[in-house]
Amino acid sequence: MRKEDNKILAVDLGGTRLRAAIVTASGKIIKEVNRNTNAVKGPQYILDNLFNALKDLLKICNLDPRNIKAISVAVAGAVDVNEGILTTSPNIPGLINIPLRKIILKEFGIKTFIENDVNAAAVGEFIYGKAKNVKNFVFLSIGTGIGGGIFINGKLYGGVDGTAGEIGHMVIKDKGPRCKCGNRGCLEALCSGSAIEREMIKKLRKHKITEWMKFDKKRFHLISAREIGEAAAKGDKLSLETINEASYYLGIGIGNIINIFNPQMIVLGGGVSGMGRLLIEPAEQYAMNIAFKLPAESVKIVQSALGNKAGILGASALSEYIY
Ligand SMILES: [Zn+2]
Repeated sequence: MRKEDNKILAVDLGGTRLRAAIVTASGKIIKEVNRNTNAVKGPQYILDNLFNALKDLLKICNLDPRNIKAISVAVAGAVDVNEGILTTSPNIPGLINIPLRKIILKEFGIKTFIENDVNAAAVGEFIYGKAKNVKNFVFLSIGTGIGGGIFINGKLYGGVDGTAGEIGHMVIKDKGPRCKCGNRGCLEALCSGSAIEREMIKKLRKHKITEWMKFDKKRFHLISAREIGEAAAKGDKLSLETINEASYYLGIGIGNIINIFNPQMIVLGGGVSGMGRLLIEPAEQYAMNIAFKLPAESVKIVQSALGNKAGILGASALSEYIY
């Protein structure tokens, strides 16, 4: 069988969405399904939902499981890669110490790989994205939370247990806002989508009024980072202030990454990075203020072009390029 004919069932299991796709070994997505994770319904529902998505894909494409080379799962959580166990997942509560690889292997009889979703997205960037053939780079996913993936000398850096790359939990502001992880002042608690929303709501409560006021007080909690970005792009002052504060902390985080890793590239992905220039340009300036001269001159800060496909594509490449 030619390599091109190899098909992989790739999954990106996040706190909100479950995406699954049949992908060729050269990164072509043949068919994709996209469902709600419904994390609140508990572990059994999440696993059944995942199994059904994979079975539906096989059925839709009329594929025999024997023709599938691997199942590769990128999941939002801390993964023991060697054992194939999802140890914990702050965004999918209830999935604690789940032997995901064993469970999937038992159900489908297909070789299975499990990886943290941001690490998988970094692999996607390395194989198919902006960091193609870039041996030393850091991928930063800025969404509801913040995750990181580190490539050193062309290899995903996992650390001793495979848990390395928790850049979102680098403490930036001592005694800062409480983070989901329990610490205070993590990068994630200062410039993730949820941090931007939290700060915007605080400002709205204080100022009562904004030029962009389509939400009444009772609906403040529904404001999304994307809407704040849109309002800022239209010139809303409070939204701009909020995003500039987030940029400041993001810049400190990026500056630290530059000084520690001396990477050739930093790729910014995740939904919040979609704000683009508004968020990234000031962050770059702040980063350059604290970065040392030589690594600052070498690094390129770019926005991912794979968008929300990075996880699926990266997962599909795990069997081929990483393990
Ligand atoms: Zn944290």
